[in-house]
Amino acid sequence: MNASVKTSLPFVDLQSQYLALKSDIDARIQRVLDHGQYIMGPEVNELEQALASRVGVAHCVTVSSGTEGLLIALMSLGIKPGDEVITTPFTFAATAEMIVLLGAVPVFVDIQPDTCNIEAANIEAAITTRTRAIMPVSLYGQVADMDEINAIASRHGLAVIEDAAQSFGSTYKRRKSCGLSTWGVTSFFPSKPLGCYGDGGAMFTDDAALARAAREIRVHGQSQRYTHTRIGVGGRMDTLQCAVVLSKLTRFDWEIERRVALGNRYQQQLADLPVQRLTVRSDRDCVWAQFTVLLADATQRGALQAGLSAQGVPTAIHYPRPMHQQPAYEKYAPSWPLPFSEAVSRRVMSLPMSADLTDKQQDRVVSALKVAIG
Ligand SMILES: *Cc1c(COP(=O)(O)O)cnc(C)c1O
Repeated sequence: MNASVKTSLPFVDLQSQYLALKSDIDARIQRVLDHGQYIMGPEVNELEQALASRVGVAHCVTVSSGTEGLLIALMSLGIKPGDEVITTPFTFAATAEMIVLLGAVPVFVDIQPDTCNIEAANIEAAITTRTRAIMPVSLYGQVADMDEINAIASRHGLAVIEDAAQSFGSTYKRRKSCGLSTWGVTSFFPSKPLGCYGDGGAMFTDDAALARAAREIRVHGQSQRYTHTRIGVGGRMDTLQCAVVLSKLTRFDWEIERRVALGNRYQQQLADLPVQRLTVRSDRDCVWAQFTVLLADATQRGALQAGLSAQGVPTAIHYPRPMHQQPAYEKYAPSWPLPFSEAVSRRVMSLPMSADLTDKQQDRVVSALKVAIG
């Protein structure tokens, strides 16, 4: 190894992406500064049209974040205190958090250990007379088993909200994530596959009445200016952030291809290491919002992360503790066990991933991992 100290790789390389798009992003931002319509300016509608047609649904509603999108989706469905929403405990907190914020109850069912997505076969046993919706998460960028989940939902008259914060751009049986259920909700947090330069998100549906409800909820429940027909939130996405996403869309097809290629390349290169690779089902692809592996030996995780960090390779844990074991959510632990969620939370580790990661940088990650494992 080179004796000189190597500079650290970025975990997500937003700087190279910006440099590739700089003239276009700068011009689009300047255009907003020139027209001055910072709230609900023309870029908002332009982005909603572009995203709806890309996903292949009738309605897209941009929102101030993915979290707000999940909240507005639940509100549009009339989720109220005491209602139950079935979801996965192995996710970022926002998923369960918005359910709880409305006074509803998150009902956690276990995941598939090889994809880390919700196990549809566990859902039906968790349905009660109070169940209103199912909220699967398309974790790491791979869509959950939506056909099975939708079939269960339609048998029981439930809505399905896909938490697609990590999966925008991925496909499922040739259809697009976000366009597969009652609502699909994504996030434009900077490090997500399609990110802006702050907070932002979008909601997708084919249901005109739900889309209309979401548009009203987004602006304090107004059906017209100062006519508040329902309780809402301040949930609009800034015009400036919409301009940034419009620019990023010009390169997004290439970025998705690159992410999928890098994911496959990681999978191949890790084949002879003592790590378990996640399964990507043959009828879908994964945009690898996080490139995550399962370590064979959970007790080595801290040492491995330190060993990689010493070689300039950052890592992250998505996620170290399932929701039902979080202090604020323990009271929602179900009566049934959640063994896979608990086991994978101890074994997962994410490696650097972004469309601008070069083959050379990726080789460096893999060699560093080999050294760290020893
Ligand atoms: C990022 C994320 C969210 C929240 O999105 P924000 O835009 O940061 O509010 C929700 N769910 C999952 C699974 C996420 O990864």
